[in-house]
Amino acid sequence: MKIGFIGLGNMGLPMALNLARAGHEVSGFDVVNRPEPPLRAAGSAADAVADAEVVITMLPNGQILQDVAAEIIDHMAPGAVLCDCSTVDVESARLVAEKALAAGLGALDAPVSGGVTGADKGTLTFMVGGSDDAFAKVQPLFQIMGQKAVHCGDSGTGQAAKICNNMILGVTMIATCEAFALADRLGLDRQSLFDVVSTSSGSSWSVNAYCPAPGVGPQSPADNGYKPGFASELMLKDLRLSQMAAEAAEADTPMGQLAAQLYAQFVEGEDGRGRDFSAMLPRFEQRKRG
Ligand code: NAD
Repeated sequence: MKIGFIGLGNMGLPMALNLARAGHEVSGFDVVNRPEPPLRAAGSAADAVADAEVVITMLPNGQILQDVAAEIIDHMAPGAVLCDCSTVDVESARLVAEKALAAGLGALDAPVSGGVTGADKGTLTFMVGGSDDAFAKVQPLFQIMGQKAVHCGDSGTGQAAKICNNMILGVTMIATCEAFALADRLGLDRQSLFDVVSTSSGSSWSVNAYCPAPGVGPQSPADNGYKPGFASELMLKDLRLSQMAAEAAEADTPMGQLAAQLYAQFVEGEDGRGRDFSAMLPRFEQRKRG
């Protein structure tokens, strides 16, 4: 298949490489990173999408996605599918899909879970919004870049699934970190807490698979000085997207709101920037009530 790939950063580059290594013809474009073989280096975003049957974007935010979409839609081949894999606000995802559909194209919002390791290993999970036809066309590519693609519904529902998932993740990570810090003060050994919680009703992915306490549970960024992993500022971005969506939809999400406030404080007022989102644990270790 001929594929245009725009946004070759930490996530986009390994995803594009996996497609090329599987035998697809991938033309890549990025404003900073120049692609090398097996990717074809396109001179512009418009050049990358000409002739492509599927165009994939992996960009920093919704405004950049809208700008890039405005640049490429008129240059895409009739019937081609524009598949955005970035994490962006639901509103931008729906606007871009509307414009693509009006131009006779297919459109999917297909954000991912699994991080840079998942992008590298081809084990991402895709959450996808858009039509059945567009989903069917891109499904073979999801199978190369990932291990699972869930078709969630119409345009925007992929982004909705992503921010709901990450709102749960942000909240459970904070709860896990504060519980470990409380255990310390109560004289409860961290390994014992892990042994109990990981097989009890307090268990979650944050405890069982990504334990924020160094030396406890499976290997995680906590064992590597809290080097990301999933950086705190990316968690903050996703929590803010969840709160934008909650406000627009008049949904009551007090825990999500508080998690967004705590990560904002951590990233912007403390030493959280550039550290894994599980580095909330040393933050709680240092702090006292009030
Ligand atoms: P990144 O900053 O490494 O990559 C983004 C790339 O887009 C950069 O290389 C940048 O030069 C390029 N770019 C910016 N504007 C452009 C334009 N106008 N035209 C072409 N290229 C342009 O970010 P990333 O970590 O690869 O993340 C990409 C997206 O994936 C984000 O939306 C992020 O929230 C999401 N995401 C990231 C992770 C992660 O762990 N890094 C996990 C899941 C989802």
